Amino acid sequence: MTKSANSLMSTYARKPVTFVKGEGVWLYSNKNEKYMDALSGIAVCGLGHAHPKISQAIADQAATLTHTSNIYHIELQEKLGNKLCQLSGMDAAFFGNSGAEANEAAIKLARVYGHHKGINEPTIIVMENSFHGRTMATLTATGNRKAQAGFEPLVPGFIRAPYNDAQAVKKILKNHTNISAILVEPIQGEGGINIPASSYLTELKTLCEQHEILLMLDEVQTGNGRTGEWFYFQHDSIQPDVLITAKGLGNGLPIGACLAKKYVADLFVPGSHGSTFGGNPLACRAALETINVIEKENLIDNAHSIGTYIVDALKNKLSTNSHVKEVRGKGLMIGIEMNTPCVELVDHCLDKKLLINVTAERVIRLLPPLIFNKNNANDMIETLVNCIEAFTDNLK
Ligand SMILES: *Cc1c(COP(=O)(O)O)cnc(C)c1O
Repeated sequence: MTKSANSLMSTYARKPVTFVKGEGVWLYSNKNEKYMDALSGIAVCGLGHAHPKISQAIADQAATLTHTSNIYHIELQEKLGNKLCQLSGMDAAFFGNSGAEANEAAIKLARVYGHHKGINEPTIIVMENSFHGRTMATLTATGNRKAQAGFEPLVPGFIRAPYNDAQAVKKILKNHTNISAILVEPIQGEGGINIPASSYLTELKTLCEQHEILLMLDEVQTGNGRTGEWFYFQHDSIQPDVLITAKGLGNGLPIGACLAKKYVADLFVPGSHGSTFGGNPLACRAALETINVIEKENLIDNAHSIGTYIVDALKNKLSTNSHVKEVRGKGLMIGIEMNTPCVELVDHCLDKKLLINVTAERVIRLLPPLIFNKNNANDMIETLVNCIEAFTDNLK
């Protein structure tokens, strides 16, 4: 690998392409080549790129007021908090600037809740294969040894269970009296689009009620319409105690939210937690407009129907390919699990001007924007299936 010719830390093995413009599902490179974006900046730009309503709202807000400080009341932040609570059934919001920051707020809530219950060293149950962010606490919560290696000592106060195994969680709760919360992704995104049994979240919810601990759902990736509901837990008709979201919330402006039920949220008092930038007028305006467009354009229904269409078509077209283990998805969060490592497919698709991702080494991850239409879907499917067939033909 050649050393990069710029002054950035090499935290990413970047693809050899630079995008300078976007429009809807399309991105344009500095060579003026057009790419289809089936990744949405990793589940961020749900409304596609440069959505006119979002661009207008941001421009208007930038010309009005971008930042004051959480020392003062922020009208747009209150409005966004109310809207998110209304959409999710939660009672109060804290705003940060990323998924990791929103998870940090949740982790602090779990600890303060534990102490409030008289637990000395409150501990959070987290899952194998999970992803919660790159700060020290969220990295510790993350179930990926590779991501943690070299950054020890990790943060105490976490215990790990296998994913999609409520019995294992039950056993931990039986053997440990210091648990204050469970932190879990409703679908594991980075971990490989792992969709648990339909009873899983409900079983965890029951355990949380029995043991009076918090169910904290990390919906950073699954939230904001991605899976065909505003939040994934709404498929299961349960209510978490703490809900974390970010990625798609601001359609590209950095914003994350930690939402909580009143009995949890009330444990924070002035001085407990904070953020300089979190919930500033610019980010909140973008998020409010994002929610507005999702509602007006019925994009959650679209995510559901186009997602179902894509999964069915991929299942059909790949059914005879012995290297394809499973096609699975919920809404527009879609994975194709191969029985062989397949990271090269990202480059092969890039050559064909299609942006996808491979996670957990052998799971092709598709996160198209919520505005994807049937033509877009058919184009994506054709290119992708051709690339997969060419790739697996070469394996024989
Ligand atoms: C991306 C992601 C995060 C981290 O979000 P950042 O904005 O990168 O800090 C946390 N949890 C889940 C489930 C994610 O997908």
